[in-house]
Amino acid sequence: MFHNHKFKCLRCGLHFAVFSDYLDWPVGTVGEAGPAPFCPECGGNGAFLRFYESDEGFIFMAMPGKAAPLGIGGAEVKPSEMQEQIMRHKELQEGKEDHERE
Ligand SMILES: [Zn+2]
Repeated sequence: MFHNHKFKCLRCGLHFAVFSDYLDWPVGTVGEAGPAPFCPECGGNGAFLRFYESDEGFIFMAMPGKAAPLGIGGAEVKPSEMQEQIMRHKELQEGKEDHERE
C-alpha cells in the first residue's frame, strides 16, 4: 500500500499528485521544519485543496505504471517529440501484448 496525496493549486488551478510511502508526507520525509509542498507550475506553496487516498500495491505500479517514458528531465521534450515517443511506446506495448497472447 502507498499514499496518494492529491492537490489542486488555488493560485493557477493545476492538479498534481504525490505518491509516497508516508501517510504524513512531506513531514515523514523532511520533518516539520522541511519545505511545504509547492505547485510545479506556478511555484505557489500555500493555497491548495488537498485530498488523500491510499492505493494498493507499490508506487512503481502507479508511477510510472504503463506510462510512456519520455526521457530524463522532461521540460526540454518538444510536444512533437513527445507524441512520437508516446506512439512508439504504444506500438511496443501492443507488440508485447500480442506476444504474450501467443
Ligand atoms: Zn499553481
